[in-house]
Amino acid sequence: MEHKEIESKILELMRRSAYLYENNIISEIQNKIGKHNANPKKIKHILLKLSDKKFIYKLKNSHESQLNRSRRSQKMFGPEWRLNKNYSKEEANLKIVERKESPKVKEDFIFGEIEGVKVGDLFTDRKELAKAGIHKPPMHGIWGRESEGACSIVLSGGYEDDIDEIDFIYYTGAGGQNIPGGKQVKDQEFKKQNQALKLSCDYSLPVRVTRGHQLLNGPREGYRYDGLYNVEKYERVKGKSGFFICRFYMTSISSIENLQTTLVETFKEDYVPVVREDTVVSKIKRSVLNREKIKKIYDHKCQVCNISINTPNGNIAIGAHIKALGKPHNGPDTIDNMLCLCPNHHAQYDAFGFYIDPKTFKIVGLDELNDKKIKIDKKHKIQREFLEYHFVEFQKNN
Ligand SMILES: [Zn+2]
Repeated sequence: MEHKEIESKILELMRRSAYLYENNIISEIQNKIGKHNANPKKIKHILLKLSDKKFIYKLKNSHESQLNRSRRSQKMFGPEWRLNKNYSKEEANLKIVERKESPKVKEDFIFGEIEGVKVGDLFTDRKELAKAGIHKPPMHGIWGRESEGACSIVLSGGYEDDIDEIDFIYYTGAGGQNIPGGKQVKDQEFKKQNQALKLSCDYSLPVRVTRGHQLLNGPREGYRYDGLYNVEKYERVKGKSGFFICRFYMTSISSIENLQTTLVETFKEDYVPVVREDTVVSKIKRSVLNREKIKKIYDHKCQVCNISINTPNGNIAIGAHIKALGKPHNGPDTIDNMLCLCPNHHAQYDAFGFYIDPKTFKIVGLDELNDKKIKIDKKHKIQREFLEYHFVEFQKNN
């Protein structure tokens, strides 16, 4: 292939693809334009030549770079292209790509509501659903990216361990079946689509839910868009067939009453309306309220590092419990048992990577923040006994 031809192919590739990772950009390019068409030396040469123009490149998706990103309050989602200072000029140049237009993929991959689509809207098939921008993949139940989260799921009765109660769902992740919709014959892992949905939980991203006609609670025919849900938690447990499944507990942002009123005309004839009093769900609703409250007090800034992470879908912060809820800890779901943390510090705090001194409120165990006091707002009283509980757990785990 001619030099010019390869160059224009590379440029075209860059414009179309949001997924050229810096680590192996040369081999990725080689794979895409055909190994016989260009050797690595040639590609390297062209990339370096191109680097005289206007450049941006994708940041490595690692824990470390996420930290870098949050430090600079960068957007956490969507393909992101910028220069990482840790690289020498030549290395950086190699990772550089030119992108004049934003790639189509990026525009398609949207979190939250889709303009022009209402809860209860019906679609004849998966194709129509994709056209509307609700859920693009023709087969997969989860529409997500391993490094960015999942924006949509479709329930179509393919997994025996699914539990669907309209306003809450125990949703089984993808994989491990002999044929799609068949028997579970292998363990599922938190990888690919399952990892994406896990991230939606970690980063509190909203997930669109669509139900198919195959479900009891689905529409009479076709597919129905049922609105946004939050992924409240995830776990890896043994399913009915004895293999590990990735399970996601998801709740609607609407109440069961609202959902039933909105969807009433689409339900099957034998649908029995659900009446719910003070159940698990309303407890979870309260919990959501508390989490929103604490995030508001701190304006989404982490009490440990004082950083707020902006994304096109709003700021990301986590209302984290100091003494964990549920067995065996049984911490209360109250503001005085909560902290507002960024995703990184939340993960580290939960995994006992550091603790907060119950007497002084100083951070212990984080290199650069060691011995600094956490930020505490006047409106937020923290119960020291919960910090003590966490400290005891910290000692057991360190
Ligand atoms: Zn933080």
